[in-house]
Amino acid sequence: MATNGTLVKLQTKCRVPTETGPCGHTVTHFPMDAIPIIGQPAGKKVAELVMALMGHLQKKHPDIFVSIQAMGSTFMGFLALRLFETSDAALLAACDQTQAHLRQLSALQFSDESVEATIRNTLRKALAAKHTESEIEALCAELQPVLTVAMRGVRDALTGAVQLPSDQAPPA
Ligand SMILES: [Zn+2]
Repeated sequence: MATNGTLVKLQTKCRVPTETGPCGHTVTHFPMDAIPIIGQPAGKKVAELVMALMGHLQKKHPDIFVSIQAMGSTFMGFLALRLFETSDAALLAACDQTQAHLRQLSALQFSDESVEATIRNTLRKALAAKHTESEIEALCAELQPVLTVAMRGVRDALTGAVQLPSDQAPPA
């Protein structure tokens, strides 16, 4: 959201790797007024932006476009199947596979860099009201390493990179 009263346009850039680095195709748009949440219909603006992004993928990265479509139907099947009880081992295995795939996808979105950037931004925002710039610097230097370790641990646990304590065998 713009803080100066004007609506600043944002740029959403294609990260698909090419021979010369990330593709870089840029779509310019107004800030979204709604963040889509799974289970709720996406806002109209979000849907329009996604259409534009998908159009780019279809044209410039057709392989990826096709695999997104395949993953879309797999995900739909997964969402439906998990609401049913079944004794079909193949279906259960397919559900497990989809779940593992989803975990991998979420892991990719939270790189170490993005975890650090999120913590830094959150700390700065939280401290800005009551602290001077030099106090913020000092507090960030002190808190950032501790929070980074904690957040990476949570990320790894959620994405299946490490086992949660509850997954492990209970102590004898
Ligand atoms: Zn691209």
